[in-house]
Amino acid sequence: MTVVDDLLLDAAGDQSSSYRKLSSGKYACLLCPHTPVFDTPVILSMHMKSRRHLAAESRLKQNEEERQNEMNKRIALSLESTSTSKTECRERELKFIEAGWKRDCHGGWFRDENVEFDSDEEDPNEYYLANGK
Ligand SMILES: [Zn+2]
Repeated sequence: MTVVDDLLLDAAGDQSSSYRKLSSGKYACLLCPHTPVFDTPVILSMHMKSRRHLAAESRLKQNEEERQNEMNKRIALSLESTSTSKTECRERELKFIEAGWKRDCHGGWFRDENVEFDSDEEDPNEYYLANGK
């Protein structure tokens, strides 16, 4: 590579990943859909300023942004559903505690001796057994 070649490629700046030097000494544009191949860096850099290349580039950027948005949406949704199920779990625990249930140190539930229970009271031990916690 001559100094001039280096300068020309430097001019492409942060686009260094948008082309590849082939073993044949030619350059391939990786942004354009058909991966056009150019004989010299001069023609490559001319191509990179062309309307056709810029259109392909902006289309790629747009796709990338859409992909990013889609991913952010999915992350937000999954975070939301996790926190919802945690909150529900906590609320159910509080409901049992309010009803007079207490937890032993093994995570099991027992009735507070000082609290009167209805005979049809839901038993948290059975509930959690049935629901797999
Ligand atoms: Zn191109």
